[in-house]
Amino acid sequence: MSYISEVIEMTERKNPGEPEFMQTVREVLGTLAPAVEQNEEVLRKNCILERMVEPDRQIIFRVPWTDDKGVNHVNRGFRVQFNNAIGPYKGGLRFQPNVNLSVMKFLAFEQTFKNSLTGLPMGGGKGGSDFDPAGKSDAEIMRFCYSFMMELYRHIGPDVDVPAGDMGVGAREIGYLFGAYKKIRGAYENGVLTGKGLSFGGSLIRPEATGYGATYFFKEVLEHLGDSIEGKTFCLSGFGNVAWGAALKIDALGGKVVTLSGPDGYIYDPDGVKGEKIDYMLEMRASGRNVVKDYADKYGCEFVAGKKPWGNVAADVYMPCAMQNEIRIEDAKAMVANGIKYLNEVSNMPTTNEALTYLQANGVIVAPSKAVNAGGVAVSGLEMSQNSGRLAWTEKEVDDKLQFIMKGIHSQIISALSAYGMDYNLVAGANLAGFKKVADAMIAQGLN
Ligand code: GLU
Repeated sequence: MSYISEVIEMTERKNPGEPEFMQTVREVLGTLAPAVEQNEEVLRKNCILERMVEPDRQIIFRVPWTDDKGVNHVNRGFRVQFNNAIGPYKGGLRFQPNVNLSVMKFLAFEQTFKNSLTGLPMGGGKGGSDFDPAGKSDAEIMRFCYSFMMELYRHIGPDVDVPAGDMGVGAREIGYLFGAYKKIRGAYENGVLTGKGLSFGGSLIRPEATGYGATYFFKEVLEHLGDSIEGKTFCLSGFGNVAWGAALKIDALGGKVVTLSGPDGYIYDPDGVKGEKIDYMLEMRASGRNVVKDYADKYGCEFVAGKKPWGNVAADVYMPCAMQNEIRIEDAKAMVANGIKYLNEVSNMPTTNEALTYLQANGVIVAPSKAVNAGGVAVSGLEMSQNSGRLAWTEKEVDDKLQFIMKGIHSQIISALSAYGMDYNLVAGANLAGFKKVADAMIAQGLN
């Protein structure tokens, strides 16, 4: 049996009931054959694959909190510190009812490769809770965040682990989490979390970074293929911070966004989501209602209940910005039938492995999320640099660095592919490039 198959089988055996984690392990390891074949003896001797699929540690804790009626609740908190070979653990916190250990491990595993691609010294981690922020008051959110940090603080620190936001954790939650950390530790400690408010160490462009970075990366892909964003139509899912940043940058570069989605369905706006309609996305998010239908009601366009745009709307580019596994095999088939040429993955692991294989076999160019959405964590890395240097860079300084980083990710992928004599397969290239750096660091640091 090959080294890769042995490790996949072992991981399967050790992690029963963790479908999301196994999905990403299979997807990533499944593309590493060229690197493993070239260097198998050294990789085996150092147990590189075995160590890469085993988190450094997985922390699970109780989070008790009291609601506004005085009723007590208990949620489960997580922090998975996956790999710190190239820098302190870094990755977001997700508050969502479907958070469990498998979801945390898949995100932390992906984060290790993603962070490696940014070129910045950041390892991979992820955390969160099965707490549902929907419909909670500000005071409830604050009490939950304080309780969450009562345990998390002992596991994090500016040189240890630097959390940030993810789904359900935005500027407000980061503010409360930071406030709690600072109170407990009695020190600023280089800001500890990223995604902070501008008045206490946050970076300009951080809110836009994931969406901007995703568009910059896609621009590189198109330029490589002799094409451009100008005049292309884009189907987006989601309507949160990530989709907002992407809509802003796609519009600025001459593309047209025609769909957004929410848990209630999707909207189709053939005139394009632009100008004040993009600002309205922020209003919809802030309302806490978590429905995209409000957009259709306000601007008089079509709303399709209970569906995603995938396969239902013709466009040049699909850009999922909502969550994992939102594109399944039936969507992939409809996409190919509709002549979709590009899938620019923004949300983490939005495509099932089966759908991904089908799309690639049918000539769809797939840009993988660990490269596409790396701009978010990259600007978090820039926030860390500013905090530790007591600096506040201008919008232009941060944006220029972000563009440079996204360009660099694309060229690392190209170099990895050419080193192994491979065609333009962005999924394999991103995995191979991310793997090489982390593996080299692990070998250099010995067995730990
Ligand atoms: N949650 C984001 C991600 O998936 C950002 C993480 C960060 O900024 O640390 O990469």
